[in-house]
Amino acid sequence: MTIALYPGSFDPVTNGHLDIIKRALVLFDKLVIGVYDRPDKRLLFNTAERVALIKGATKGLNNVSVRSYSELTVHFARKVGAKVMVRGLRMSSDFEHEFELAMMNRKLAPDIELVCMMSSIQYQFLSSSLLKEAASLGGCIDDLVPPNVAKALLAKLGTRA
Ligand code: ADP
Repeated sequence: MTIALYPGSFDPVTNGHLDIIKRALVLFDKLVIGVYDRPDKRLLFNTAERVALIKGATKGLNNVSVRSYSELTVHFARKVGAKVMVRGLRMSSDFEHEFELAMMNRKLAPDIELVCMMSSIQYQFLSSSLLKEAASLGGCIDDLVPPNVAKALLAKLGTRA
């Protein structure tokens, strides 16, 4: 049985993340979504909220679990028995960063393999940060996030999304 870890900030989870999650589930027996507790980013949702939003958005999916973590990602991968880490790649923005991360992770944990999945075309330009900016200014983001996230953004930002 192959367990994969999909780590990230997920602030909040978007349809781009969900697309990667569903496609990864075709490849792996189990997918653990790891919500990093303290990314080097300004967060809108706290860790418990980010976990709850992913749980809500993946309710109908089998073989998915959602957990937060605060240690090194590769240590968390070992802890959950994952031999593979999954990351999503958008057209231009992600490659260099993901490559650097992958090289560091390979050095730290050569036993863990990385699988990068290309973002589907309709989500190539979707990022949590742009999404938050658009939502905070009242832009309609309903087709970019699952309904529970649209609701949470509306509640948090107080604008009509
Ligand atoms: P991190 O802070 O670890 O980059 P993110 O939540 O921003 O956390 O992203 C988690 C993973 O999901 C990363 O591999 C990122 O490239 C990928 N990702 C983010 N948005 C998309 C998208 N629209 N399509 C595909 N992959 C995405």
